[in-house]
Amino acid sequence: MFVTLEQTDVAELHQFRDPVTGLRALIALHSTRLGPALGGCRCLPYPDETAAEIDVCRLARGMSFKAALAGLPLGGGKAVIIEPQKTYDRQALFQSFGRAVNSLAGRYLTAMDAGTETEDLDQVATQTPHVLGYSGDGIDPSPFTALGVYTALQIASERQLHRQDFKGLHVAIQGLGHVGRRLAMMLAWAGARLTITDLDQAHGKRLAERLNADFVTADEIYEVPCDAFMPCALGGTLNPETIPRLDARLIVGAANNQLASEDDARHLQDRHILYTPDYVNNAGGLIALALHRQRHNNAAVRSKVKGIGCTLSHLLNDAERLGVSPALMADRMAEQRLHDAHEHAA
Ligand code: NAD
Repeated sequence: MFVTLEQTDVAELHQFRDPVTGLRALIALHSTRLGPALGGCRCLPYPDETAAEIDVCRLARGMSFKAALAGLPLGGGKAVIIEPQKTYDRQALFQSFGRAVNSLAGRYLTAMDAGTETEDLDQVATQTPHVLGYSGDGIDPSPFTALGVYTALQIASERQLHRQDFKGLHVAIQGLGHVGRRLAMMLAWAGARLTITDLDQAHGKRLAERLNADFVTADEIYEVPCDAFMPCALGGTLNPETIPRLDARLIVGAANNQLASEDDARHLQDRHILYTPDYVNNAGGLIALALHRQRHNNAAVRSKVKGIGCTLSHLLNDAERLGVSPALMADRMAEQRLHDAHEHAA
């Protein structure tokens, strides 16, 4: 356990076990320099603890960078629950996780992520006040995440394809969950031509029929000739095996950690595919949670989420000026903001 701690830059990695409920969870706090570490909780059947550890550390770092670039007074953290293999009591599991969150006394605020639902957070909320996006507060981050990604696509397609609207734009969407499904609907309404996929083929085909889109299998999506490819499933789908297969001019997605490694940003640049950094595109949900917590109304939240377009434009300009990939530029900008915050606090 903790084999990767030396290889990551997270400040704290907490491990929780509860033999009564079967809970095995990790909470990583990458940074609390700008404020409490806010980040969702994943509940997935990780093959082992090392895989969970790698995921939580990478995700926590992404949350710090996301909050820093979105200009939010928040740090970055994340939680993962290794879903028990045997039959388990889901309510008891999430109550147990709630006690784990509570033990960090508000330095970590949890929310929803892949593999968790509002009902799970409702159980967490019975044990701790440090939870956002449950039935009690009524905040659903996913529509705001979709709005942010949609805004990022507008900026990227204007820049790379000189397009002012989405009419006839061919978009391939990977993953049709909370975010991908909404994006598909928004893009269909805006007149885009869609090719979509999901591991759940029945769900994907139903949505394709509804939106007059083409459905392909999860593997075929990489080779769809399109204007924009949108990764909205899990991380690591842009890697040395998939990048050579892509036939797209833009990549703008919601998934966290889309690039398997930093080198993949350069591979995309070499292929003249414009990749917009995931944690810039997908900050809408985090913005919504943070602003609703401060009692801002929906109009204010939407306006701040649309500001993602402005952040992205500046970032792409700077990346071009310095001749670096947008992914590297985003990391540099976020690191600088965290550094400045540290200096300011010292
Ligand atoms: P979700 O769990 O609701 O949906 C993910 C979908 O992807 C599922 O339908 C799943 O079947 C599908 N999928 C998984 N692997 C796939 C593959 N290889 N090919 C095709 N489909 C596949 O998750 P979500 O809330 O929609 O989030 C999607 C991504 O965006 C995640 O990486 C998440 O971390 C990230 N994200 C989400 C939010 C949010 O507000 N929900 C915010 C920021 C980032």
